[in-house]
Amino acid sequence: MFDIISEGKANIYIPAGKKGVFYNPVQEFNRDLSVAVLTVFAIDHQSDPTVKKYQKKMKWATSTSDTEEEEDEEDEEGDLPLAPGKKCKNGISVLDALSATGLRSMRYGLEVAGVNTVMANDMSEVAVKIIDKNVRLNNLNRIVVSRRFDAIHLMQLEKIRGRHFDAIDLDPFGNPTRFLDAAVSSLRDGGLLLVTCTDMAVLCGNTPETCYVKYNAVSLKTAACHEMALRICLHLIETVCSKYGRFIVPLLSFHADFYIRVFVKVFTSPQTCKATSTKTSMVFKCIGCNTLSFQPLGMVYQVSGQTKFNLSHGPVVNAKCAHCEGRHVMAGPIWTGPLHDATFVQQVLDTSESLGLANTRRITGMLAVILEEIKDIPLYYTLTNLCSVLHCEVIPMQDFRSALLHAGYKVSLSHCAKNSFKTNASMTVVWDILRCW
Ligand code: SAM
Repeated sequence: MFDIISEGKANIYIPAGKKGVFYNPVQEFNRDLSVAVLTVFAIDHQSDPTVKKYQKKMKWATSTSDTEEEEDEEDEEGDLPLAPGKKCKNGISVLDALSATGLRSMRYGLEVAGVNTVMANDMSEVAVKIIDKNVRLNNLNRIVVSRRFDAIHLMQLEKIRGRHFDAIDLDPFGNPTRFLDAAVSSLRDGGLLLVTCTDMAVLCGNTPETCYVKYNAVSLKTAACHEMALRICLHLIETVCSKYGRFIVPLLSFHADFYIRVFVKVFTSPQTCKATSTKTSMVFKCIGCNTLSFQPLGMVYQVSGQTKFNLSHGPVVNAKCAHCEGRHVMAGPIWTGPLHDATFVQQVLDTSESLGLANTRRITGMLAVILEEIKDIPLYYTLTNLCSVLHCEVIPMQDFRSALLHAGYKVSLSHCAKNSFKTNASMTVVWDILRCW
């Protein structure tokens, strides 16, 4: 009736002959990296001062009690009894909101040293039966608990009970939009949101109107569409956060295979929310030469030494492109704040090597490129795309990079695309180099 597959340290029952439905091997990279990210987050959690005020309400997740009786007492406190973990003092609680077979939950329970409790939830009765079998198979009944709820309902219920998760993983089919309100408001201050989007056609400009419906942003067909997808997703999460006086700090955002994944911390500060418009921009693409321009929605200014924020006034982008006089198409709004926190990414890079993950080489390769990415330049170009505009041979990346570096500019790759570059040089400089080569 069931096949068993192994991934990381977990063994998982999958209904026989339904491997394709219940197990996606391509997402192993996503799950490996999530294990590494949660490991680092759990280490930081130990010394995070914001955690303390949540601890009283989170007994179920942070219990260090040693006797069965004490645990039973705690179980009786809430209507939803939870299995207190015993792995470490002050460990984290994780909600795997859309769990399917519970594979992520099992892996977090087995492989992330600082995890105390994982709640594995799925709306499907079949899925929850499999989760329960997998909890027993992996001997995780003291750490992983199953739930069968609509994820939105579950998160709202936990919030009403005054219990906040340290981390919430949203790994839906397609887009995560409908789960975000509940997730953002049931995370503790400084909590970690892990979000996957698999609807890449929508995010990459095939159906911009659907993208606007799902993400409140218009997507764009451009060589940089995968970073654009990341920035649309971050914009959506930030917008949802703003409603609750919260804001995001992205720790790591990446595109791989057929999906994107973002790891963001969520903090509470209505004051900081006022700066949201300064981290948000409209994007303009010239239909003649593919040059991209940005119009930030807000600007930062100083009055008597104080930092203030205001909405920008008037279009900065000319109606016609300065390079070819082409017309622009408009897209966005997108997040134009940082995609990554370099210190955190370095910690993940250092840690992942010791975790024995199947995808260590791919993880370290990608994180090394991410660390090199120029932080404050949104999106990128590809040489293939720009050279096709000029109808010329594609210039070797090394020659192009040397030309920019010799002229005193910064240049880096993007992890999203081969042959891509980010630079702080203006597009006038870039076009000059390409024309003169
Ligand atoms: N995270 C899993 C993994 O890594 O193997 C894969 C999850 S699968 C993409 C999405 C799951 O979400 C399905 O099992 C589906 O039953 C469940 N689901 C869809 N809508 C839901 C909802 N509103 N509440 C709870 N579960 C839901």
